[in-house]
This record gives sequence, C-alpha cells and structure tokens, in this order.
Amino acid sequence: MAKAEKGISTKKIALERIDILFERAKEAQTKPDLSVRYVSLAREMAMKQRVRLTKRHRRSFCPSCHAFFIPGENLRVRVQHGKIIYTCGICGAVTRIPLNKKTESR
Ligand SMILES: [Zn+2]
Repeated sequence: MAKAEKGISTKKIALERIDILFERAKEAQTKPDLSVRYVSLAREMAMKQRVRLTKRHRRSFCPSCHAFFIPGENLRVRVQHGKIIYTCGICGAVTRIPLNKKTESR
C-alpha cells in the first residue's frame, strides 16, 4: 500500500498552530490573562497531537502558572553553578536549565 502523499502532516500543522499561539501570547504581553490562555491552548494542542514543544517555546512560559515570560517584567534570569535559573515573577516557580548542551539536546 502506497503512503498517502499529503505534504503536510497533522503534527506539522499542530506545530505551526503552536507557533502562532506563542506569537499571540507574546503580543498579549500587556494582557497577562490572555497570554496565559494562549500558552494553555498551545500546550493542549501539543499534548493532543503528541508533539513536543520546542526548547524555545518551553522556556518562554512558566511551567507552573503558564505565564508568558517577559524578561525584566515577570522573569528573573540568573546563572549559578553552571545552570541558568529562571524565576517566575508571578508564582515564584524556579526552573533550572543546565548549560551543558549534551543533556539539553532534546
Ligand atoms: Zn509562574
């Protein structure tokens, strides 16, 4: 049986939509409620389509309260012991990202 030759897979579409949702979240910076909603929608879509959010996307919002990070506004970034420490200014959640590229290649 030949594979269907449809150029665009649903996963690819999902990734594109997720990208758009993150763009909207960025644009809605001044409306935190709205940007949280966009981030939540993007996460739901990723889960439904079983796609991974890109590293860039995963780091652009708080894993705890889903606030879209705005550096200098609701996000504090520090480097400590070879790790980047993200502190959410809304809920105070701390995300540690190792600087070692090998462990963060996903
Ligand atoms: Zn938070």
